[in-house]
Amino acid sequence: MSLAERLERAIADSGPMPVARWMALCNAHYYATRDPIGAAGDFTTAPEISQLFGELVGAWVADLWLRAGRPAFRLVELGPGRGTLMADLLRATARVPGFAPPVHFVETSPVLRRAQAALVPAAAWHAMLAEVPGDLPLLIVANEFFDALPVRQFEATADGWHERVVGRAFQPGLDPVRADALIPPELRASPPGSVFEASPAATAVAAEIGDRLRAAGGAALIVDYGFAGPATSDTLQAVHRHEFADPFARPGEVDLTAHVDFTALAAAAAVRARGPVGQGAWLASLGIGQRLAALTARASPAQAAALAAGARRLTAPGEMGDLFKVMALVAPDWPEPAGFA
Ligand code: SAH
Repeated sequence: MSLAERLERAIADSGPMPVARWMALCNAHYYATRDPIGAAGDFTTAPEISQLFGELVGAWVADLWLRAGRPAFRLVELGPGRGTLMADLLRATARVPGFAPPVHFVETSPVLRRAQAALVPAAAWHAMLAEVPGDLPLLIVANEFFDALPVRQFEATADGWHERVVGRAFQPGLDPVRADALIPPELRASPPGSVFEASPAATAVAAEIGDRLRAAGGAALIVDYGFAGPATSDTLQAVHRHEFADPFARPGEVDLTAHVDFTALAAAAAVRARGPVGQGAWLASLGIGQRLAALTARASPAQAAALAAGARRLTAPGEMGDLFKVMALVAPDWPEPAGFA
């Protein structure tokens, strides 16, 4: 049975499905059945655009680890895609004395696990962060992971707030039960048509990160398309072959994302948070300009032009420089992370 048929049957059996359940089932199928990343896929990401991204994330990790006194630790990546970020990070840190952590990938897609194994064969794979051993501090990186996690959507009407559900013919509608108690008090009086999103899946991962950092030390670096909430906005979107699509058509065949509420993640983690700051500002303060100059000095003119174009896409306002944001979560007695001054 196709995913569309299974969803139809589930809706017929159990009634309209909350948007979060729709998004969870569609994305699980989507990621399990393809490598969607890159020019030939549906979307591209910072590590696929430029090696500078993974290299500077590596510099950030190594710098924090050095200033923490070079403890034994585990290096964790959530949703590693093709493994490109980690491969660039490990290459950039290979000459840092004593820096040789065990690498843990949290990844559910078998297709992407295979791609990751080709680039980082020594990694260990887990279906969730809770499976990563808790004996050592964790340094965690997550690029465009949280935006793939399901969101609940609520809509303001003349008759209070109602959850958005997917019903017959995959049409979105509103659950008749009022959901006002689930809306932050400062947003409750928003005008009809306003949409509020909450991601219990994302805040659960953030809470787990907070628990781990408090128990064993370390830090997490979270990079995503997002905002500092609470705010109303309908950010659920579908992308297919680098173009916007209908999130309720072709289930499991389009990439579904929602913007990340960094305030909600920080509150759930309940540890020291730095940022969110724009990705462009963060990369600039970590020295992307100097790193680009060093690389282009040894490159052919064509390579130099490609490196410069990649750096521009990662940092320019209106491209990824301000749309994407960077936040760090830090264990209580760990040093201040670089890039947030
Ligand atoms: N970080 C990569 C890939 C981003 S795409 C990059 O920047 O290129 C999102 C990634 O998260 C994919 O690897 C996807 O398979 C993974 N993912 C999505 N939902 C997940 C879940 N619930 N648990 C674990 N991994 C998930």
